[in-house]
Amino acid sequence: MLRIREQVASRIRDHGVETYPNECCGALLGSEKDGHRDVVEILPLKNQRGDSPRNRFSITPEDVRDADAAARRSGLELLGWYHSHPDAPARPSEFDREHAWPWYSYVIVSVQSREPKDMNSWRLADDRASYSAEAIETVSPGGDA
Ligand SMILES: [Zn+2]
Repeated sequence: MLRIREQVASRIRDHGVETYPNECCGALLGSEKDGHRDVVEILPLKNQRGDSPRNRFSITPEDVRDADAAARRSGLELLGWYHSHPDAPARPSEFDREHAWPWYSYVIVSVQSREPKDMNSWRLADDRASYSAEAIETVSPGGDA
C-alpha cells in the first residue's frame, strides 16, 4: 500500500503534463512503517535520456545519490520513483522492468493528449522477473494520515 498526499499526487500529474509529449521522472520521498508507505514529498528530476525521451526515462547514479541526500535532509526515506507514460497506459514497459530495482515503488502516470489519467504503482519482484501492482491511496492533509 502506497499512500500519497493529494497535493503530491497533483504535482506528479502536473509534472507529466509539463513535460508532455516527453516523459517526466522524479523521486518519491517519505516514510515506511508496518508495510505502509507514505509519500509526502517528491523530487522532480531531469529526464537524462537524450535518445528517446518520449518512451524512456533513466535514473543515473547521481540521481540516486541526490534523491537519497534530499530524503535524509528532510528526515525521509527514498521510497521509489515516478515517471509518466505519454499516450500510453500506466503499466511498466519491458524497458521499465529491465531498468528497475526490487523494493522501490514505481509510480506511473498515464498522460493522454496532455490530460493526466490513471496513476498506478508497481513493485518489482525480488527475482526481477515480474511486477506486481501496489495499491495507491491518496490522502488529504489533515485527514487520517
Ligand atoms: Zn515507463
